[in-house]
Amino acid sequence: GSTIGVLGGGQLGRMMALAGSAMGYRFVALDPTPDAPCGQVADQIVAAYDDRDAARELARQADVITYEFENVDADVAAMLMSESYVPQGSELLYTTQHRLREKRAIEAAGVRVAPYSEIRSSEELRAAAEKFGLPCVLKTVMGGYDGKGQWVIRSFDEIDEAYETLSRAGVELVLEQFIAFDKELSVIAARSPQGEIKAFPAAENIHVENILHLSIVPARIAESVQKEAEKLAMKIAEGLGVVGLIAVELFLTADGELFVNELAPRPHNSGHYTMEACRTSQFEQHVRAVCNLPLGDTELLTPVVMVNVLGQHIEPLLARMAKHDEAAARLKVAPKVHLYGKKDAVFKRKMGHVNVLAGDVQQALDWIEETTIWKV
Ligand code: ATP
Ligand code: MG
Ligand code: MG
Repeated sequence: GSTIGVLGGGQLGRMMALAGSAMGYRFVALDPTPDAPCGQVADQIVAAYDDRDAARELARQADVITYEFENVDADVAAMLMSESYVPQGSELLYTTQHRLREKRAIEAAGVRVAPYSEIRSSEELRAAAEKFGLPCVLKTVMGGYDGKGQWVIRSFDEIDEAYETLSRAGVELVLEQFIAFDKELSVIAARSPQGEIKAFPAAENIHVENILHLSIVPARIAESVQKEAEKLAMKIAEGLGVVGLIAVELFLTADGELFVNELAPRPHNSGHYTMEACRTSQFEQHVRAVCNLPLGDTELLTPVVMVNVLGQHIEPLLARMAKHDEAAARLKVAPKVHLYGKKDAVFKRKMGHVNVLAGDVQQALDWIEETTIWKV
């Protein structure tokens, strides 16, 4: 069988390796942390992501190379293209690493993003904030995640402080109009090197303190909007010439309008529900795409709610798992636990997730409410 090299060794790589191992592939991950989540289930080269000798060693061991996080140095990916097979290319990384490049690419694909403006000074920030109105959201164009590197501007008095604080990171800034969304959705689409495209069912996402808490599928929205969101994700996959997965985060307004928030060119936390709830998981689909296999069927087999397990949830979860689950039996739900093998249960750190399979999503939500694990 062939060997798949993965830049990054976190939980996304781990679940990719678990799915791909079942398909007969071997995996080797490049990650600086010894015994990384992916390294526990695959081989691992322990080195920095931008260590070129280590990247060359990865290329020597692997028949195909992919990545599991988007802040891989696009130059390293470009170098690897001359040493190995990198079906996703480096262009997709280059685009999605940078919010302005990403927004322009989405617009070029004919899809709407929240109105935005490039910001190079606090004067430009003031002018753009006057144009969009308050609140509005200032973001660093690179390196942000979990809401880090952003500032929701609610008063014109905050302009200078917001500009100074975020520009300290030394990267460009972008101001976005605040979208008073009714719901946040995401759709994960896959595209193969031959151009076959399939989308997974849209997920309704609920964040707590900027960290994903729940993904609810089917999303509690009109079926026509689900279909429109899925179409739009496929349009982006086509327009950007994606290979592998592209996760599309969306805002849905009360009038039924969809705006793209941001993209991720990899498996996405909001797609973990596919592991048991779809005919093909996002991880299997990614492996299929980068290995040039036909894509799998994305049909939803059961309603599901995915709930993230953060550091503070581990102890109550383990206590719950050790006993008979009366609530699960009564509600007829099947909570499927996935843990990532991380040792220190730091507050807010993603340690795992539970896919709660149910007759309908409300029963899954009732189980989550009753267990009290997520009250802490
Ligand atoms: P992630 O962990 O998803 O990569 P991130 O740090 O890249 O997060 P965004 O996804 O851009 O950040 O924003 C985080 C959250 O902030 C969004 O999910 C949404 O709830 C809110 N948000 C961001 N931009 C806007 C906007 N223009 N209007 C309204 N809410 C927004
Ligand atoms: Mg992001
Ligand atoms: Mg986001």
